[in-house]
Amino acid sequence: KLLSTSDSSSNGMAEGQSIPLNFNENPLGLAPKAQQAITQALPQAWRYPDKARSDLMAALSQSLTLNESQLIYGNGSSEVLKMALDALAQANCQLVMPDPSYGVIIDYAMARGIPVVKVKLDGQWQTDLAKMQAKVAAHKGPSIVYLCNPNNPTGILLPQSPLNQWLDKASSQLSFIIDEAYVEYVAQPGFVSATARVQQGQTNIVVCRTFSKIYALAGLRVGYGVAHPTLIKAMQAQASIDSANLLGCVAATASLASPDWLKFSLESNHQAKELVYQQLNELGLEYLPSEANFIFHSVKGDSQQYMERMEQAGILVGRPFNHGEGWNRLSIGTPAQMHYFCKTLAKFRQLGWV
Ligand code: PLP
Repeated sequence: KLLSTSDSSSNGMAEGQSIPLNFNENPLGLAPKAQQAITQALPQAWRYPDKARSDLMAALSQSLTLNESQLIYGNGSSEVLKMALDALAQANCQLVMPDPSYGVIIDYAMARGIPVVKVKLDGQWQTDLAKMQAKVAAHKGPSIVYLCNPNNPTGILLPQSPLNQWLDKASSQLSFIIDEAYVEYVAQPGFVSATARVQQGQTNIVVCRTFSKIYALAGLRVGYGVAHPTLIKAMQAQASIDSANLLGCVAATASLASPDWLKFSLESNHQAKELVYQQLNELGLEYLPSEANFIFHSVKGDSQQYMERMEQAGILVGRPFNHGEGWNRLSIGTPAQMHYFCKTLAKFRQLGWV
């Protein structure tokens, strides 16, 4: 049962704790089966994680209808992003990516001396595929393109058919890293994950996925990559040996066997998002309809100051993003937490802060 929304006096957290709406985590926490799996496996945690990891890879291969040779484990998808970049990097290559987007890969590229070309989102906050393509065409050398689908912080999906047309062009001079950290939340009919391309044998695409978001295992560090077996081998060569965590692996395997928990999480996210949309509509604050577990919305003012005021009110919200002046990214908590957020936002309006 979803949490009650009746408590209006406190933020519903333990004394002194803020509601964490800043890192796009699943507020419902681990699936019960995942918790049980951890408890059961704990006495075995003195052992290396090989079996737990290979059980997880077998379960993933089954659930995604992929060969195990098309999969790689990562210590969070952050490690998958790093392995993908290392495997795809060539002399004189550049990284092309949208801005704003998820920025970890920028740090990896800079540490490796790979120039990063950031392409501003267009006027509709959409990833500007045409401009990105122009940057690729203008470069004398290979390009690695990073795309986040749905994008973080906007929650918007890439336009499927222009994306497909570009992905068709993947080659040894043009490779793609597609970050699908929030894919399980996507509700849009007709959406096709880029993993389908790997199933069809495409060679220059890596899809990065994670158990940190809807599966609620952010603290246990479990992610995976999907790519052609040759590319997976090249990525494996960049991996830290035994970067897997035994407890994370058993929890992830149990989460895959918990479709009811996933459904419950989706319903909770949907219900909580609707509450926020309604409040934003009432206050006339612009927002982007989200295909993920966060909403990018206008705060009609300085987003840093807004963030600090929310923190004083017991709520941690997202941070400022490039080109998102006056906007904020809000992670979706439980319906009860979002009810509290909405009331706080309405108070901010009374104070003339939003
Ligand atoms: N990709 C995107 C788009 C994200 O938003 C995040 C985390 O916020 C990650 C990847 C990294 O997640 P993790 O390393 O926990 O799998």
